[in-house]
Amino acid sequence: MRTKIKHILHAQQSSLLIGRQVTVSGWIRTVRDQKSFAFIELNDGSTLANLQIVVDGALPAYTETLSQLTTGASATITGTLVASPGKNQALELKADTVRILGTCSAEKYPLQKKRHSFEFLRTIAHLRPRTNTQGAVLRVRSALAHATHLFFQQRGFYYVQTPLITGSDCEGGGEMFRVTTLSDLKDPSKDFFGKPTYLTVSGQLEGEILALALSDVYTFGPTFRAENSNTSRHLAEFWMIEPEMAFADLKADMECAQSYLQFCVRYVLEHCREDLEFFDKFIENGLLQRLQHVADSPFAHLTYTQAVEILRKAPKQFEFPVEWGIDLQSEHERYLAEEHCKQPVILTDYPAEIKAFYMRANDDGKTVAAMDILVPKIGEIIGGSQREERIDRLEHKIAEHGLNRSDYWWYLELREYGSVPHAGFGLGFERLVLFTTGMENIRDVIPFPRYPGHADF
Ligand code: ATP
Ligand code: MN
Repeated sequence: MRTKIKHILHAQQSSLLIGRQVTVSGWIRTVRDQKSFAFIELNDGSTLANLQIVVDGALPAYTETLSQLTTGASATITGTLVASPGKNQALELKADTVRILGTCSAEKYPLQKKRHSFEFLRTIAHLRPRTNTQGAVLRVRSALAHATHLFFQQRGFYYVQTPLITGSDCEGGGEMFRVTTLSDLKDPSKDFFGKPTYLTVSGQLEGEILALALSDVYTFGPTFRAENSNTSRHLAEFWMIEPEMAFADLKADMECAQSYLQFCVRYVLEHCREDLEFFDKFIENGLLQRLQHVADSPFAHLTYTQAVEILRKAPKQFEFPVEWGIDLQSEHERYLAEEHCKQPVILTDYPAEIKAFYMRANDDGKTVAAMDILVPKIGEIIGGSQREERIDRLEHKIAEHGLNRSDYWWYLELREYGSVPHAGFGLGFERLVLFTTGMENIRDVIPFPRYPGHADF
């Protein structure tokens, strides 16, 4: 039976494994030919580190085997675990049999020892997962997905699924991908659904339906935005987590969002130590310290109005000038989180004009009960709000935003039949991966990134 390398290298007491016969399978990272024997570094993706394997020159067909032991080749190796004389690992494997599963041309294989740029690696998304960085990203990503379910399930939230194909545009904005079987779009009534349909930009409105029956729900699924933003923080296809809570106000929303982020950070600090140490060393110096700080300290909190005052007084020239009422740009968000607060900051009570129609109006008549969480290096990671539960206000807002009342008939009926205060937020999963790994570009934290001009693999 095959043993995963993780279970050898991360054994509780590795000395107990000495003398044990094991079979491992994986891809060869490097081979060092020492004439009378060879060292192989084998990686199976179960963990960052490679297992060192010693292949003795006395093994049958040694020369032939050695010629096939090239970087990238796959192999199954059976042998005995021994204490390693090297200082990098406690154990190594002394091979008895080496079976090459798939050879790999040393001349052609693109992933040789030298380090490649992330840009180049995006062009070989079929091999990129075999690099140290991408492997670590994917393991942390998996852990964050698990942590997400753990957090919400522990709090009594139900995991719900909202549609990916939708006939309504959540926020009344553009930026949607059309879904059609027609080659000529002139007559949408002939289309598959008998009307124009799109890929969802958010499951929130449907999430509200479910929260107003189950109390606390969350979605975790793909989200699509056709915005032509060539930034390091936007994808055309990304994953979003959208909790929605009945009987909750903005304060409860903020509490949930902060606890969720801190839970995720603590989870990866505990379960992804080796990968995070790798990121700390090669991607962002000080990452572990930054994450520990996030896990330990409450986030800062400012109102939008306070934030605007801070930005106006900031000893810094912004590209986009700041005045009350503007939509904050990424440079402003990053200044607040990175330089002013030096930690995640929750911004609340934004001007109604720059926020979506469904956000609950504050008593001042100018602002809404919105909250965004801004973090260093990224800017916005979470956007949320208390929802408008008063039907007259909501009808007014729908008209003001130039939306069709008839498109929102069911959304309004939720306010007609047993309306309750409720709130929720959306978190971009890839931005969470950026935040916890220190990676710079969102295209490098999803295995198959979709962005303008790129839908390969
Ligand atoms: P931004 O201003 O950064 O474009 P947004 O305000 O348009 O974001 P929301 O509609 O509030 O985003 O979506 C909720 C969350 O989803 C955001 O806080 C962000 O984490 C994430 N998100 C939004 N758009 C994208 C995208 N194109 N790619 C990846 N994540 C995104
Ligand atoms: Mn937002």
